[in-house]
Amino acid sequence: MDLSYFHGMLSESQKKFFSEGLRFQCQGTGKCCISRGEYGYVYMTREDRKNMAAELKMSLVAFTKKYCKQSGGYWHLKSNPDGPECLFLNKKNQCDVYKARPVQCRTWPFWPENMNAKTWRDDIAKNCAGIGKGPLRSAKEVEAQLTEQLLSEIE
Ligand code: SF4
Repeated sequence: MDLSYFHGMLSESQKKFFSEGLRFQCQGTGKCCISRGEYGYVYMTREDRKNMAAELKMSLVAFTKKYCKQSGGYWHLKSNPDGPECLFLNKKNQCDVYKARPVQCRTWPFWPENMNAKTWRDDIAKNCAGIGKGPLRSAKEVEAQLTEQLLSEIE
C-alpha cells in the first residue's frame, strides 16, 4: 500500500509539530483508559474485534455481542456500567487484554487530532503522565503511529 497518501492527510502544521520527534513513555497510570470528554469511546475495527475475541477465546460474534456497540456506524467497546473506566481496565490499572488491545490504544497519544502544540500542552500533557518522558520518538516513528491510527479510522 502507498502510505504517502496518508502522509498527505496530515496538514503541514501537524507535520511541523512532530518534525523533531516527540518524547513519550507510558507511565502505567491507566488514565488513558478512563473515558473523559471527547475521549469517550474505544473504537474497534474488525481486526481489533477479531484479535480481542481470540485473546478471550471467544467467537467474533459472541465477543461483539457481549462487549461492543455501534454508534454512528462505528463499532466501539460498550461503556462500563460501574464507572468511566474501560471494561478491560483491571484494579491494578492494567489492561486485561493488553496483547490484543485495539489500534486506538496502541497508537495513543499519537493521534492526528493531538498533533498541535495547544492540544498537546493544554490537554494531552495535563492528562497523560507519559508525555515528555522516555526516549525521543522520531518523526518517522510518530508518523508510523499516526498512519496506523488513520488507517483504522477509515476502515
Ligand atoms: S482496551 Fe485496554 S488499553 Fe484500551 S482502553 Fe481498555 S483497558 Fe485501556
